[in-house]
Amino acid sequence: MELSHPLIKDGWFREESEEFFPGQAMRLRVEKILHAERSKFQDVLVFKSTDFGNVLVLDGIIQVTERDEFAYQEMITHVPMFAHPSPKKVLVIGGGDGGVLREVLKHDCVEKATLVEIDESVINLSRKYLPKMSHALDHEKVQVVLADGFEFLKNTAAKHESEKYDIIITDSSDPEGPAEAFFQKQYFELLYNALNANGMVISMASENIWLNIDKLKTLKDICSQVFSVTECCYCTIPTYTSGQIALMCCSKNPQLKVSVPHRHESRDRESELFRYYNNAIHGASFVLPRWAADKLN
Ligand code: SAM
Repeated sequence: MELSHPLIKDGWFREESEEFFPGQAMRLRVEKILHAERSKFQDVLVFKSTDFGNVLVLDGIIQVTERDEFAYQEMITHVPMFAHPSPKKVLVIGGGDGGVLREVLKHDCVEKATLVEIDESVINLSRKYLPKMSHALDHEKVQVVLADGFEFLKNTAAKHESEKYDIIITDSSDPEGPAEAFFQKQYFELLYNALNANGMVISMASENIWLNIDKLKTLKDICSQVFSVTECCYCTIPTYTSGQIALMCCSKNPQLKVSVPHRHESRDRESELFRYYNNAIHGASFVLPRWAADKLN
C-alpha cells in the first residue's frame, strides 16, 4: 500500500522535534493515510494507525489518537470542572476535534459551552474521521465559533459582562504555529478578564517536566503575574512526548484552588462516566516528583 507522506517512512509515522531529548522520536505504525493537506493555518494529516485508531497530526505533532485521547480530554476538562462549585458557562479555545466538549457536557450543570476553533479543516476532518469526539460539536448546548481564540477573547469575552465564563479551557496546539499567542502574558490577562469571580482556567502547557521544565516554569511565572492561584498538574498519555503532558491551572478567587475538587460523583457513576479521571487522581495529579516540585513551586 502506498504510504507517501514526508512524515511517513517505511510504514511508520515519525514525530521528531528539537524539544525532545537528543536521539528521541515517537513512532506509530500507519495502516492507511486518510487525509493530508496544507490548510489555511497548518499542515494537517489524518491517518489510520495499526494500533491506536485514527490519528490527527498538526504541523507534524500528534494531537489525538483514538486509543488514548480520553486521558488528556478527561483531565484537562474535569480537573477545573470539579474544582468549580457550579460551572454553567464554559469556553473552549481550540479543541476542534470535539473531545473536550464531549467531557464538558458530562456535567449537567453546564448551560452553555462555546468552542472557538481557528481551523475549519480540523472540524470537518474530525467530523469525518473522529466521530467519537466530534459528535459533541452538534450538541444543543454547544456553540461553535470559527475564529482565532485570542481575537475572540479580545473582541467579545473581555468586553461584555454577559460574555463571562466560569471555566475556560485552552485546548490548543503547540506554540509554533497559530497557537503562539496562547503562551504569552497578554493572553492570560484576557482570560482573567473573561472570567466570572470564581472563574478558573486550564491550559495545555505543551511542555512536560522531563523535556522542558524551564519553559514550564516560565509559563507558570507568567500565569502567576496575572492570577492569584496558579498550579501545575499533569496526565500520563502514551502518544504525547515522553508519555505525559503538563496542564497549567489558574483560579481568579484566591479561596478556590483548582487542585481541590469541590464536587464529585459516586464511585459507580465515575466508572460509568470516566476512564481516567477520578476524585483521588484529581489532587494526586498536582503532586510532582521532587526535582520538578523544587523547580516549579
Ligand atoms: N489535545 C491536543 C494537543 O495537546 O496536542 C490539542 C488538540 S486540538 C485539535 C488543538 C486545536 O487548537 C487545533 O485544532 C488548532 O487548529 C487549534 N488552534 C490553534 N491555534 C488556535 C487559535 N489561535 N485559535 C483557535 N484555535 C486554535
